[in-house]
Amino acid sequence: FFAIERLIMSLVELKVPDIGGHENVDIIAVEIKVGDTVALEDTLITLETDKATMDVPADAAGVVKELCVKVGDKISEGGVIAVIEAAGAAAAAPAPAAEAPKPAAEAPKAAAPVPQAANFSGSADAEYDVVVLGGGPGGYSAAFAAADEGLKVAIIEQYSTLGGVCLNVGCIPSKALLHNAAVIDEVKHLAANGIKYPAPEIDIDMLRGYKEKVIGKLTGGLAGMAKARKVDLIKGFGEFVGANHIEVKLTESSEYEKATQTGEKKTIAFKNAIIAVGSCVVNLPFIPQDPRIVDSTGALELRQVPEKMLIIGGGIIGLEMGTVYSTLGARLDVVEMMDGLMQGADRDLVKVWEKMNAHRFDNIMINTKTVGVEAKEDGIYVTFEGAKAPKEPQRYDLVLVAAGRAPNGKLCGAEKAGVAVTERGFIEVDKQQRTNVSHIYAIGDVVGQPMLAHKAVHEGHVAAENCAGHKAFFDARVIPGVAYTDPEVAWVGVTEEIAKRDGIKITKSVFPWAASGRAIANGRDEGFTKLIFDAETGHVIGGGIVGTHAGDMIGEICLAIEMGCDAEDIGKTIHPHPTLGESIGMSAEVALGVCTDLPPQKKK
Ligand code: FAD
Repeated sequence: FFAIERLIMSLVELKVPDIGGHENVDIIAVEIKVGDTVALEDTLITLETDKATMDVPADAAGVVKELCVKVGDKISEGGVIAVIEAAGAAAAAPAPAAEAPKPAAEAPKAAAPVPQAANFSGSADAEYDVVVLGGGPGGYSAAFAAADEGLKVAIIEQYSTLGGVCLNVGCIPSKALLHNAAVIDEVKHLAANGIKYPAPEIDIDMLRGYKEKVIGKLTGGLAGMAKARKVDLIKGFGEFVGANHIEVKLTESSEYEKATQTGEKKTIAFKNAIIAVGSCVVNLPFIPQDPRIVDSTGALELRQVPEKMLIIGGGIIGLEMGTVYSTLGARLDVVEMMDGLMQGADRDLVKVWEKMNAHRFDNIMINTKTVGVEAKEDGIYVTFEGAKAPKEPQRYDLVLVAAGRAPNGKLCGAEKAGVAVTERGFIEVDKQQRTNVSHIYAIGDVVGQPMLAHKAVHEGHVAAENCAGHKAFFDARVIPGVAYTDPEVAWVGVTEEIAKRDGIKITKSVFPWAASGRAIANGRDEGFTKLIFDAETGHVIGGGIVGTHAGDMIGEICLAIEMGCDAEDIGKTIHPHPTLGESIGMSAEVALGVCTDLPPQKKK
């Protein structure tokens, strides 16, 4: 056996392909090392020419035996990147357990145990080129993209509307409420300019109605777009019963997150499936059932405005909902196990938010755990432990549990299709969004952090293109994060915290909004715009903005990072005046030492 296996092993040189005639191009990243297993199309190195960067993919699969390049080297077409020991198809990997496997070289490595697919021998009620399980932002985007490629597509969704968590109980309803809160707060600020309004009269039913109208407009639009693309919507709870079949228990649902099964079933056959089942709220085991204890969905229902509200979890979702309730009249406490709120963002950004929002809070308890929750007639009593814990249990009228979300990978029978699911419920995928079963893809919250809608949509497009036979990859350099609080906090790429943790040498430049004409005119000059550069290459690799509309502006820094821009590229791009967006250009000018909107900088 060994003799035969050795015969079909061979050493192969992986070389730089045609790169459009560029010579001696800089290698700015090397993604492999000796001993790595490389799959077909895995990125080997990243090259950079004058204005663009490009990833060089592997054109053979195998184990890296020799690495012939390093970061900083220059290389041209035909240059050898690495030598791999390639295996013949027969020995490359055991055949996947699922039906209709694709070539073994395309299968990703999955750390989770690989289950044996169930043998399904029944008949199907319908057959599709692509079946998407879950109609959230990842799922509907994948389905629509696949239909636009000319494929026959169905979406299986258990609830009444498309849009998933994001449109129904997440991004959109929270922003509809935050918009109203922001206007109320803005109007209050006008008093300082001599424009005084009486305190607002809040009709909470009408406000809830506005939020519902926003959701209805968007989800109705999605249903129309599905119809226009001839994407079939199958309303029911789907579970894999084999590697090419899903059984759907049909449901009736009048509201999102509420559905009853009708008792009818349908079996759907597919050539490709895309798992887009998303995530659900993490419930803490010691928290009792009580209408005064809600998760984010319950908070968005806006049933009451409490006098005293506790937010368990100082992340984005909790702080956004806290902003809404506080503007409507609630006093807030927040408890967070970690050493700061809004983890992930640099502390200098968060500090500005904290200063502006101190008036909303009675108690900010960081490094503190919630250890007991008791529902009594006069309120919910909560006990804490840790650095900032009050000694006595505290009484609240409303408690929002915003302690994170868990993936739904274990709730859709994925293992019966041979798809590996981790202990925690994540489904591992390769850069093409393929699971270990090569005709089954997974996207969105169920494949990992960050659990954000814009990541799910991009992954959905990649999966759809691959279903259509293209070679698409999810190779975003950065994924931005935004807290839509007041002020907004937005960040992307390498933060100062990441640079410190990973030993990345950086330089940074900061433009304070106290020098921005537009921010001053708006009466909101507390913010700043920060750019982070690679100290060696000068390329922008991160950025953060705190201030009004920060989330609308961070996209420019994302683009700059993707395009490999340096300070000169950004600083010499003419930004319109007077805008908040101008602060990105000015921050780049600060990096160059040429910002004329600030006092003279010290010569370096
Ligand atoms: P989901 O949106 O979770 O959709 C999955 C869908 O699959 C659901 O509709 C579910 O019913 C369906 N499903 C699951 N299993 C089955 C099954 N077996 N059969 C049939 N149907 C099934 N992200 C942002 O980017 N920006 C924000 O501002 C933002 N704000 C948020 C605010 C809140 C309060 C919350 C809770 C989340 C927020 N998010 C935000 C996160 C965002 O909502 C998610 O990242 C996004 O919805 C994930 O999309 P998805 O397609 O992976 O899954």
